[in-house]
Amino acid sequence: MKKILVINSGSSSLKFQLIDMTNETVLAKGLCDRIGIDNSFLKYTKQGQDPIIINKEMVDHKDAIQTTISALTDEKIGVISDMSEISAVGHRVVHGGEKFHDSVVIDEEVIKAIEECIDLAPLHNPPNIIGIRACQQIMPGTPMVAVFDTAFHQTLPEYAYLYPIPYDIYKKYGVRKYGFHGTSHKYVSERAAVMLKRPLEELRLISCHLGNGASVCAIKYGKSVDTSMGFTPLAGLAMGTRSGSIDPAVVSFLIEKEKMTVEEVNELLNKKSGVLGISGVSSDFRDLEAAADSGNKRAKLAIDIFCYKVKKYIAEYSAVTEGIDAVIFTAGIGENNSRVRRQIVEGLEYLGIKIDYEKNNVRGKEIDISTEDAKVRTLVIPTNEELAIARETMKKLNGK
Ligand code: AMP
Repeated sequence: MKKILVINSGSSSLKFQLIDMTNETVLAKGLCDRIGIDNSFLKYTKQGQDPIIINKEMVDHKDAIQTTISALTDEKIGVISDMSEISAVGHRVVHGGEKFHDSVVIDEEVIKAIEECIDLAPLHNPPNIIGIRACQQIMPGTPMVAVFDTAFHQTLPEYAYLYPIPYDIYKKYGVRKYGFHGTSHKYVSERAAVMLKRPLEELRLISCHLGNGASVCAIKYGKSVDTSMGFTPLAGLAMGTRSGSIDPAVVSFLIEKEKMTVEEVNELLNKKSGVLGISGVSSDFRDLEAAADSGNKRAKLAIDIFCYKVKKYIAEYSAVTEGIDAVIFTAGIGENNSRVRRQIVEGLEYLGIKIDYEKNNVRGKEIDISTEDAKVRTLVIPTNEELAIARETMKKLNGK
């Protein structure tokens, strides 16, 4: 079990990484884009080289997998001589509903169960299944594993995952909190245990995955016990373009006052809200900071709202985990934005969280940024969902 191909299949795109598990290095990675649309192409990067663009017509995901394999085995740009060198494929699957508590080796029954979760993730699960089917066709006989964004959160207690709405609705449609970013929260919690040189089973952690999509997770003794995203990834924190949790009555108010359709409200809350909606400038924190620094008050307000919500979740989840050993910052903003990290933890000294501003002045590397005397460690840990998927794939195929 040496080389694992990790696939993240979207509706018109397919991302991949080929990882050599002997030393966990990425041999090559790429993105097939505009699948089924005109001008489709593969952006391909071989380890240690600059990315190249390969223009190739890809009418479906089967074409995309074929294009990927051709690049990986190409004489000039390839990294393997034959497809048989790929030991297994790990697929990212967004929603496993209540059916999957862990990663799973893919067979027909598993695909059927993923199909049954389509109602819960109508935009994500269908392209994930298409990616699995395409791999089955192009690489028959290669074992495959599905790794779910939701699985890590299946340990939430009932009182944390149920919404206080009529119980029948939960029974009928599965309307409840599922949570997302599970692969990332799990990965960084394992890294935290390594950094702290303590068993994960002893640690109370609060993991802040702060990217364009953002969520906080309370992890008690290695298990997710609460998380900020919900039935969908719209809930919780204010995000790049998503509102996060707001009073649900705003939805019917907008439908009535603005004569909006359900789709329009959905679009407004998912694509036009968050820090973009508040600032009117951008969903990207680099643009927001530049605008705020040059005096744009709404850009500053958007950053303030974002930080305020993360700070509140940390305090709230400290009650859920009944104390904190470490707070983790990860993903684009969490790994790279020292100002946002500082603003979030400012005033949380009462919980034992105290960061060293010098140490905090880093981006993209594993580091403990707490002061020596802080009771709670604050850690920056770059996430690596692809490596986490590859590790899960190995583990499942080794029967663990
Ligand atoms: P993600 O969705 O994890 O890719 O995160 C996207 C967010 O991370 C954007 O708001 C970016 O501003 C921020 N981000 C990503 N890379 C960097 C970087 N190198 N420096 C500062 N911010 C970054």
